[in-house]
Amino acid sequence: MPGRDGLKAGKEIIEVGRRMWVKGWVASNDGNISVRLKDGGFLATATGVSKGFLTPAMLVRLNRDGRPAPGRNRHRPSSEIRMHMEVYRRRPDIGAVVHGHPPVATAFAVAGIPLDQNILPEAILTLGAVEVAPYGTPSTDEIPEAIAPLIERSNVVLLANHGALAFGPDLLTAYHRMETLEHTATITHLAMGLGRVKTIPKAQVKKLMELSEKLGIQGRVTLKSSKFKVQGSKDKKG
Ligand SMILES: [Zn+2]
Repeated sequence: MPGRDGLKAGKEIIEVGRRMWVKGWVASNDGNISVRLKDGGFLATATGVSKGFLTPAMLVRLNRDGRPAPGRNRHRPSSEIRMHMEVYRRRPDIGAVVHGHPPVATAFAVAGIPLDQNILPEAILTLGAVEVAPYGTPSTDEIPEAIAPLIERSNVVLLANHGALAFGPDLLTAYHRMETLEHTATITHLAMGLGRVKTIPKAQVKKLMELSEKLGIQGRVTLKSSKFKVQGSKDKKG
């Protein structure tokens, strides 16, 4: 099970928050970031703060069960931390979770269109088919319940009428998955505007999946053509 040193995790969260804000993935105080720590607890962004201007005091220490560690925090954790905890609970291979509202990917989530076509090699290797989880009220148990089955077979989830969630063994990988998601959504949208979206032939997709095995790409990637059978899974257990 991955776990980060607290100080390093704090620095990484502040940097990833800044990048998300610069890229326009989070307006106002939107979005949240968390990292699994060595001791089994978590470090997460506080509620009501801009991800572009985080300071160490705006990070919250959580116990193994996701509750704030008593006496160690100035702020309350994000109201959406339950969504993060659902990912950690179901995926021991996951060390970090990123949530934001990247505009193009979120537009697909609003339109209810999954990003599940095999159109770009990088997206096939790192994301696979990205599904849209049913809408849930933020900060309630509705979102953790809606994403639960999707977490098992992917590293990225679109949240209907809301945004996107990406996770990985470490924070940079989770962030990069979100970047690939928004990039793929943008290209898909442009190709749709051109009136034609050609998919990569099945035989070529198979070659990519073999490459994924060879390269030892981590995470869970499931392709639409495989009827959501998990493929290319290289999770680190333990
Ligand atoms: Zn949100």
